[in-house]
This record gives sequence, structure tokens and C-alpha cells, in this order.
Amino acid sequence: MSEEIKKEERSLNFLEEIIEEDLKTGKYQSIVTRFPPEPNGYLHIGHASSICLNFGLTQKFPGYTNLRFDDTNPVTEETEYVESIKEDVRWLGFEWKNERFASDYFDNLYAFALKLINNGLAYVDDSTAEEMAVLKGTPTEPGKDSIYRTRSIEENKDLFTKMKNGEFPDGSRTLRAKIDMQHINMLMRDPILYRIKHAHHHRTGDKWCIYPMYDFAHGQSDSIEEVTHSICTMEFVPHRELYDWLIKNLEIYPSHQYEFARRNINYTVTSKRKLLQLVTEKHVTGWDDPRMPTISGLRRRGYTPKSIRDFCDRIGVAKRDNMVDVGLLEFCLREDLNKIALRRMVVFDPIKVIITNYESDGEVLHSENNSEDEKGGIRDISFSKEIYIESNDFMEVAPKKYFRLAPGQMVRLKSAYIIKCDEVIKDADGNITELHCSYIPESKSGSDTSEIKVKGTLHWVNAADAVEIEVREYDRLFQVEDPTDEEGDFKDYINPDSLKVVKGFAEPALKEAKLDDRFQFIRKGYYCLDKESVDDKLVFNRTVTLKDGWMKDQKKN
Ligand code: ATP
Ligand code: MG
Repeated sequence: MSEEIKKEERSLNFLEEIIEEDLKTGKYQSIVTRFPPEPNGYLHIGHASSICLNFGLTQKFPGYTNLRFDDTNPVTEETEYVESIKEDVRWLGFEWKNERFASDYFDNLYAFALKLINNGLAYVDDSTAEEMAVLKGTPTEPGKDSIYRTRSIEENKDLFTKMKNGEFPDGSRTLRAKIDMQHINMLMRDPILYRIKHAHHHRTGDKWCIYPMYDFAHGQSDSIEEVTHSICTMEFVPHRELYDWLIKNLEIYPSHQYEFARRNINYTVTSKRKLLQLVTEKHVTGWDDPRMPTISGLRRRGYTPKSIRDFCDRIGVAKRDNMVDVGLLEFCLREDLNKIALRRMVVFDPIKVIITNYESDGEVLHSENNSEDEKGGIRDISFSKEIYIESNDFMEVAPKKYFRLAPGQMVRLKSAYIIKCDEVIKDADGNITELHCSYIPESKSGSDTSEIKVKGTLHWVNAADAVEIEVREYDRLFQVEDPTDEEGDFKDYINPDSLKVVKGFAEPALKEAKLDDRFQFIRKGYYCLDKESVDDKLVFNRTVTLKDGWMKDQKKN
């Protein structure tokens, strides 16, 4: 993994090498790629790899990328998904040249099918799905010809037209390519090109009742768009032979298919079908639940486009499927958030501190928004006689080297003064209710002349104007690294404690928070406003904790 971290030293990936060669030899002057999602769900982090790859290639080399919706399956596809996919691609920072739909090409595809029929390369088969499965053979046994395989061209044309005109019920007939039932590649054993499905399509409505199969739509759409490098994932390697056969026999633009390994991350699932189950069975609140590995979930959680692009860049492209540690994604996130997040103070489990020698009604202090960012600016914070600190920043009987607050001990309040704990106040049951402290007036941050050195700096809020907020703390959605690789149903491994809702007391600057803002709650982690937030009830999501064990673990290994 440590190799993968050093992105600056990364050499060209194998696709970049191929393209560089293609441009050098003059095979192409410029390239065309496409990102081809099926609009049957929201995009997830795996898709981000494909997006960054396809769009990244045409940023690096001359050419452009299309966004093409592979909408050949009318039953599972919806316009809501189309809209979410566009939003997610744009949010990741990419803009497509043309927006296309495979359904735009239904007329072309129908004409292509007729061409194959006319050339004796496709036939209508009346076999049932079961009969076809039996005749198909197995990887070690050749298949057998269907009795309908020898139909005349005229009969095929007539039947295919009737299929299109809605004269037959669903599943009663298919159009198949006439290739070779003994072919060593099972996908070449007369693959189905069209099936009958009397279903409403999200774009073509009820115009069609026959729909092309993936293999008959995908490559042909690539050709129509003159895609030069059609990049898909490894499971399509055996489909390449059919991809090439169709292009050759239809005599259309020779797009080429290249494959790379799927990218999955641990402790989650990256399959739209499985994510859909989580949504419909209400294991999560929706596609954009901040625990989801969807782009919209990550966005709501507080991820930045830059951190996701950085992640995709670091994992690069490979030929072998592998599982990527979610820790790397979080590492990329912290790298970015550290630079941009506005620092704010929020106390989660407060204990009241009375500053007994503070006589003023209060004052306005200043604190840097982000010391990592020169242009971060400063903000006002109010200070007064009564403040809250984190109760676990105090210990009545403290061990040595405890640098937080303890009786007789001093700490600095961030961007304010040094205080000393003089007295611990308890109720009748012996519970601590207040701490009485004194402050050092000359120790004000920025103009400290006290010459007192303290080791601990605590975050705090002013009791007079602290705002109560709701904070949603997320943990992994699954308890195991690969829930799909375990016995039983993947949902048996859902982490029951993936969401914890806690209260916090925030400095009033957080009332101005906007959805796009990123915050670091000092000493706590990174947070962002949630869309469910309303004026009188601010809701924040914990994007990621501060601590970063990941990089350290990598170095140990
Ligand atoms: P899912 O199983 O989640 O539905 P899919 O591959 O069926 O995934 P598509 O909508 O067909 O989803 O995918 C669009 C593009 O994204 C395809 O080129 C696909 O290969 C790629 N893609 C999908 N998942 C991953 C992944 N985990 N890693 C890399 N690329 C992916
Ligand atoms: Mg798919």
C-alpha cells in the first residue's frame, strides 16, 4: 500500500500507456471515452473510480467524454436516478461533452438487428428460457442448435416485425445472434439480442415492447458515438469477443473495449442492487444516508469532491479486483479537510467553570478560523465569567503528566486565558457540579505577558451564548470487511451501532453554517451541517474523527 500512497511518483497506468501509444502512432488524433451508468440506482464510490478514470483520460489527452445512460432495462430504471447521476458527476468536478441515452438509439439498434437478420446472422427463437438453458451446454460441454435456428430470412424478418408490433407475449420469443452453439466462449453461443417486454420505459414510454440486451446495446452505442476507448470492468472480459463480433458484422465504427478491475472498499457494499435493498428495507434513511457509500451519502457526510478524486487517483487502475481499505479514503478526506475546514469550538459533555476573579460582563476575543489557511481569517468569540469545558478534560485526582484541568493545575483556554482550578463544587450526592477557577488577566492569547507555560489547551464555550446542537456520529455500516463474502445474507452483518446521536454546545458562529461549509470541531473531528438542520435545531454530521491511525499502521507494516 505504501507504494500507492506516493501518487506524485506514479507512472502512467496501462490505459494511459495504450492511449499515449495510439496517439503517437497516429491511430487517433484525439480520443473519446464515456461513462455509462445504468440508471437503476445512485452512484457509489466504485463508480467514482470509473468516472475519474474516464473523465481523467480526456483531461490528460485530447478528446472528450460522454455521459451515457445505459437504459435498456425498462423495469428497474427511473428518471430520479438519471438526475442524481448527473448531479453526482458534476459534483465530483467533471463535465461531459454529450449527454446520451442508449434508448436514443433504439431505432438504430432495431435497424442493426434487421441487418443481421438480412445477412443470415440472427434468428427468432421460440424456445422457452428453460429450453434454451438446456441447449446452451456448459463450459465443458458444447451446446446444441435450437430447432428454430434454420428459419428463413423472410420468416425471421416477419416474426421480428411482429415481435416489435406487440403481437407476442413476454418471454415467448427472442432474437438471437447466429454464431456458434459449440463455441468455447459460452457468451458466443447464439446470444440473445432482443427480448419481449411489455413495459413502460422512462424515456420511450410505450413505443417499444422489445428491448435490446446489454451486449447488443452497449458496444453499438459506443460505435454510434465513435468512442475510441470503451472502458469497463473485468467481468466484461469474456464479452469482448461478442463486442468485436457485433461491430465487425454490422460494419460499424470500431470502438475497442478495455477492462480494469472493480474497486471495492471494505466494511461496506458497492452494488446498486444491494444498496437498494438497504434503502427499501429501511436499514438506512435513504440513498443519501451519510453512512452509505454512495456519492450522495458521502457528500452529505461531508466528503469533498477533491478527497474522492484524490482517493481514486491514489488507488489507480489495476487488472486484478481488490478491496481497498476505507482508511485510505478517510486519509484522503482528512488531508483535504485539514486545509479547508473552519475551526470551531463545541463542547459535547459540558461541565460548568466559574471564573471567580473575572469581573467584567464579558468581552469579545478573536480566534483563527484555520491556521493551515493563510486566507482563513479570524472570527469573534465571546468570553465571560461562566463557561463550559468538556467534563473529561477535568480530573479530580489526576495522574502525573495529566496536562488538562485538575485541582491546583493550570491550562490555557483556546484563544483566551490561562485558568487555574481552585475549587471543586459538588452536590449532596458527591457529583461535581461546578469548577471554580481563577484566570490570569495578563495571559490573553495574542498578548500574553504572563510568562506562564502550560502544556494543555482546552476548547470551551461561553455559557451565556452557547447554542445547543444535535450531532450525528457515524460508524461503519457493516461489522465485517466484506459482508458479501460471509455466510448468510449480507444484511446480517449490518452494524447496529452505526449511528449515535449526541448533544453538543456550540459557539454561536456555527449558527451561520451552510451546507457546503466544512468544520473542524477543535480536538473532536470534522463535521458539516446536515440538510435536516433547521433554524432552531442545528444538526451536524460527524464526517470523520481527527485521529488518523491509518497512515501509522501502514508505516508499521
Ligand atoms: P452495480 O453492480 O453497482 O450496479 P454496475 O457495474 O452494474 O455496478 P453500472 O451502472 O453498469 O453499474 O456502471 C457504470 C460504470 O461504472 C461501468 O463502466 C462499471 O464498470 C463502472 N463501475 C461500477 N462499479 C464499479 C466499481 N466498484 N469499481 C470500478 N468501476 C465500477
Ligand atoms: Mg449494471
